[in-house]
Amino acid sequence: MEEIGHFIGGQRVAGTSGRRQAVMQPMDGSVRAHVALASAAEVRKAVENAKEAQPKWASVNPQRRARVLMKFLELVHREYDSLAELLAREHGKTIADAKGDIQRGLEVVEFCIGAPHLMKGEFTEGAGPGIDTYSMRQPLGVVAGITPFNFPAMIPLWKIAPAIACGNAFILKPSERDPSVPMRLAELFVEAGLPAGVLNVVNGDKEAVDAILDDPDVQAVGFVGSTPIARYIYGRATANGKRAQCFGGAKNHLIIMPDADMDQTVDALIGAGYGSAGERCMAVSVAVPVGKETADRLVERLIPRVESLKVGPSTDSSADFGPLVTREALERVKGYVDLGVQEGAKLLVDGRNFKMQGYENGFYMGGCLFDEVTPNMRIYKEEIFGPVLSVVRANTYEEALALPNDHEYGNGVAIFTRDGDAARDFAARVNVGMVGINVPIPVPIAYYTFGGWKASAFGDLNQHGPDAFRFYTKTKTVTARWPSGIKAGAEFVIPTMR
Ligand code: NAD
Repeated sequence: MEEIGHFIGGQRVAGTSGRRQAVMQPMDGSVRAHVALASAAEVRKAVENAKEAQPKWASVNPQRRARVLMKFLELVHREYDSLAELLAREHGKTIADAKGDIQRGLEVVEFCIGAPHLMKGEFTEGAGPGIDTYSMRQPLGVVAGITPFNFPAMIPLWKIAPAIACGNAFILKPSERDPSVPMRLAELFVEAGLPAGVLNVVNGDKEAVDAILDDPDVQAVGFVGSTPIARYIYGRATANGKRAQCFGGAKNHLIIMPDADMDQTVDALIGAGYGSAGERCMAVSVAVPVGKETADRLVERLIPRVESLKVGPSTDSSADFGPLVTREALERVKGYVDLGVQEGAKLLVDGRNFKMQGYENGFYMGGCLFDEVTPNMRIYKEEIFGPVLSVVRANTYEEALALPNDHEYGNGVAIFTRDGDAARDFAARVNVGMVGINVPIPVPIAYYTFGGWKASAFGDLNQHGPDAFRFYTKTKTVTARWPSGIKAGAEFVIPTMR
């Protein structure tokens, strides 16, 4: 059985804490490896390693640093298929979806190749008599990322690529549920020319995370995961004087106006509601048809589509989605479906008893569809993170708009309509960070930024795009006057531009 340790100082090292955890293969419920859970001392060792490597890396000119990213892209393309299969086997998503997970990460790496341009400072000639003012962006030093199970390639890359492109050293603490792909990505970075120690991967759980949050040499923490943990990490990291950006959970609504193209809408809901078994922070989990007629038409079309969803093992290329990540996740999601029934929602399609023939120990369930869900129900308020779509009926557009606006979460939202005015009004007034207009999963492209609002994010800057370069650098501003310009003697009044 494979033992997954850590990646420190440019190589794999065994864990020494004596604590480890099983890494499952969700499609058949087997244990495929064990992952070491780092102690605080092991985290410290990784930080010391990173701290030693960082100044030399920061002094490499930005174009040469970017070339490491270029080479890394080439290496990932070389082993795209095997990485995708490894990812699918540990996560449970299909191989095609795993390729998307990798690709979305690579797109941010591509963007970060522009680091020499993105890190340029400002210059003002003659800001005062004989005075020039300029600013520059400098790396923070050692920074860390703590990432979730659901995108084990994409989210680590969203953090690693801008951080190292800026000249930082990076400590990654990936999810203990699917650590193999992040470990392999670290090896590929070193093969691409990244100096040893600039990127370290420390596997672990709360003990490792707390050690990162309390380490005085870690300057910034980027987190993605569930909201309670995001809130906790933001609080502890900032209390310790670190920069932090922490992204949390979601409850994404898709509003269907009476004039929406119903074929397009149903396709969108099926893909965005059930793809990756609903284990996406941008999954659509609430459909909001406006008006009874729209709702009846929608539900009538959704039922046969949800009933005919093809659930299968991750390696089955014809499957729509695979198993959930763990048995606990499966039980939790089924528990929410039980709860919805108790709360009085109408369960139109029940996938709780689905069994995958030949894979009886896998963590499968079929798609579930609820109608007549209301805002006071827990299945509406809480993130289920499974293949469960809830229909909440609204009488008017204003009533529909109020739902995402009043919800605790504010990650993504979408409106389906043919009416440009309605779409424009919606985009302007909705209290959510990422908006789709006839686009169900509005994940912004790499050169824009990704981030939710309200309880979906803590901190001010978003992920990737120009914000990532602000997050991973500090600005230094220089005001310079050369001796020939000093003629007036001592100045006792604060200099102004009057
Ligand atoms: P999680 O919060 O359980 O774990 C995320 C990370 O935090 C992991 O590395 C884990 O080891 C660590 N962690 C867990 N418990 C901890 C604790 N008590 N103390 C310190 N660290 C702890 O999340 P998950 O189940 O891996 O991922 C799913 C969640 O992530 C969902 O809520 C989903 O919406 C969210 N997510 C959000 C985004 C976004 O950008 N907003 C993107 C992807 C996923």
